Amino acid sequence: MTNRSSTRHAFLAAIAASVCFCIAISPAFAQQSTPRDPTEPQQGQPHSKLLPRPAAAIARQSVDEKSMRALIDQLVSCGTRLSLSSWTDAKRGIGCGRDHIVARLNEIAKESGGKLQVVVDKFGSTSERTSGKPLPLQSVYAILPGSDPKLAKTLFIVSGHYDSRPSDVMNTEADAPGADDDASGVSVSVESARLLSKAAATGRGGYRATLLFAAIPGEEQGLLGGYRLLEWAKQQGYTVGGMLDDDIVGDDPSPGAPHRVRLFSGNGEIDDCDSPGRELARAIEEIDGRENIRMIFRVDRYGRGGDHYPFYKAGLPAVRFTEPLEDYTHQHQTPRTENGIEYGDFAKYLNASFLGDVARDNAEALGQLAMAPAPPTNARLTGAVTPDAKVSWSAEEDPERSGFEILWRETTEPRWQVYDFAAAPGETVLRGVSTDNHFFAVRAVGKNGARSIAIPTEIERRPPPLPAGTKQ
Ligand SMILES: [Zn+2]
Repeated sequence: MTNRSSTRHAFLAAIAASVCFCIAISPAFAQQSTPRDPTEPQQGQPHSKLLPRPAAAIARQSVDEKSMRALIDQLVSCGTRLSLSSWTDAKRGIGCGRDHIVARLNEIAKESGGKLQVVVDKFGSTSERTSGKPLPLQSVYAILPGSDPKLAKTLFIVSGHYDSRPSDVMNTEADAPGADDDASGVSVSVESARLLSKAAATGRGGYRATLLFAAIPGEEQGLLGGYRLLEWAKQQGYTVGGMLDDDIVGDDPSPGAPHRVRLFSGNGEIDDCDSPGRELARAIEEIDGRENIRMIFRVDRYGRGGDHYPFYKAGLPAVRFTEPLEDYTHQHQTPRTENGIEYGDFAKYLNASFLGDVARDNAEALGQLAMAPAPPTNARLTGAVTPDAKVSWSAEEDPERSGFEILWRETTEPRWQVYDFAAAPGETVLRGVSTDNHFFAVRAVGKNGARSIAIPTEIERRPPPLPAGTKQ
């Protein structure tokens, strides 16, 4: 464990060093790697002021793997947690699952000195997979209110779904242990609640925005809990700052485990692969390190879906964590043995070390995002057909903010680099930088070193001229 954390520090230091390196001698670097391209800017240097990220990161060894496994075992012991199964039987069915989650969160709330609030949200929902009839459902939320009066209306969510399914998604009788899909994600959400509420209770943390730890039903019947969570957040008057969906995050059977968790983010419907979800993914990778996060630039695994999807479709920053390589004999399968192959989603296949890594990476990302100032608004890029790029943005007053980082990247690069720092909102002119050759974004930086997600600049749309007489 200490190994991993020292590797992480060395890695982050290496990233910081490489960022500084690029900024300090970027023309030489650029000439080496792309010798026939002109350097940008032609003269002078970018001005960067890199604040270190928040100290006192959540230590990997503080993750309670035993309690995570205990919760998973309790959920599996419910036999099935199909959303169509019993909500009232304490021993078998989805109500049994709800009871175990509420009990565990209540324990954690107690340890938090009353900071964490546990809520059961009852609602009804209909889909093809409820036989077209309204199905009564219950979501479990644990809420850690933000300390900043304005930012407390912004919500950072981590969610796992606690329903499970056998091969036939309408069969309420068959066993559906659902250890990996998705008791594992629920255990990550619940453990994040413990880690972050403990930090808040001991005066560490300083989470300015509100954190929501969700365990939701109805995923297998058509993302019913995910759609409800989005609606609930809106009804409560929250802005969603980020939604981290953990679904199938416990198994890592390939040799050499634990491996990196995959983090899926969709392209969105705007240009340049810069959707809010993509910016959230980049922020998480930067916080947790490339050695821990494998970004995948697609909304979900091929042909699959998850509870981040309703948020993604609403244009909100939402991503999905999933294990490195899935074993389909363990998913959505009624337990059985056929031709010598054992089917079923049992806890014995889980990798505690990998699952603990995922919990730590979720909690650290959520914590840092909740410590950050609000992201800037109205980020714009102007200066087309001039030698200089002009980046402008707005932001409300915030005495806890240090300033803003102007980010850029080559259009073919997956990650941002810090280009410049500005103390106040307004316009920054990047002299001698082409608007054509890079993408730009802005993010806010707190005095504590926590960064908001980046907001890509919008560009002026200038459609090419059409031949005379052509209708647009
Ligand atoms: Zn799932």
